[in-house]
Amino acid sequence: MGGTFDPIHFGHLIAAELARTRFTLDLVIFVPTGDPPHKRCRPVSPAEHRYAMAVLATADHPLFQVSRLEMDRPGPSFSVDTLEEIRRRLGPTVDLYFITGADAISDMLTWKDPQRLVDFCHWVAVSRPGYSLQDVEAKLGDFYRRHRERFHLLEVPGIAISSTDIRERVRNGQSIRYFVPEAVRLYIQKYALYQDGQISPKVR
Ligand code: ATP
Ligand code: MG
Repeated sequence: MGGTFDPIHFGHLIAAELARTRFTLDLVIFVPTGDPPHKRCRPVSPAEHRYAMAVLATADHPLFQVSRLEMDRPGPSFSVDTLEEIRRRLGPTVDLYFITGADAISDMLTWKDPQRLVDFCHWVAVSRPGYSLQDVEAKLGDFYRRHRERFHLLEVPGIAISSTDIRERVRNGQSIRYFVPEAVRLYIQKYALYQDGQISPKVR
């Protein structure tokens, strides 16, 4: 599951867990993006913070892991490069499933090399309030129809939580208790992340 995870929240965790059980996945690897090409319009927190929060959020799940692969690679992150690296590390026989929300996957045709993206792995689109799974089909059009066997639409209970909303709440001094795992909430407090719209301080 790729994402900015700024911060990771229960929407991500529930989507990952339901995809894991639905497709009997051996492992879910969360890959916080390094330098996200799609998010240059706003300052993203340092990858170390986003990574640390993802580790805290997943620490108690035996089948959840977090990878530094994208953040340790210099330059912009492209999913196709990440998948190539994961495929290289895990070998040709492993089945890969990329878990995304319905919003993110609808933009897939704007990502680098969509054809190779579908060649590399299965794509799981989980529903998200405000984005219907029908929209995914409609937006990806012919591409979706040609690779229908690669796409899996997964209806999950709607979790109307976004990282944007969480950052906004912190900035406004509102509670984010129960939006994120408690360890993540305390981490955000400890490093005073998301206050005043500033880029957060570096991990010391
Ligand atoms: P932001 O508001 O900063 O974009 P976000 O909440 O969308 O943050 P991302 O890190 O952008 O989180 O998302 C990573 C992946 O998780 C994407 O594929 C996204 O669609 C999916 N996702 C995020 N939140 C949810 C949610 N509440 N339900 C289902 N999928 C989600
Ligand atoms: Mg998003």
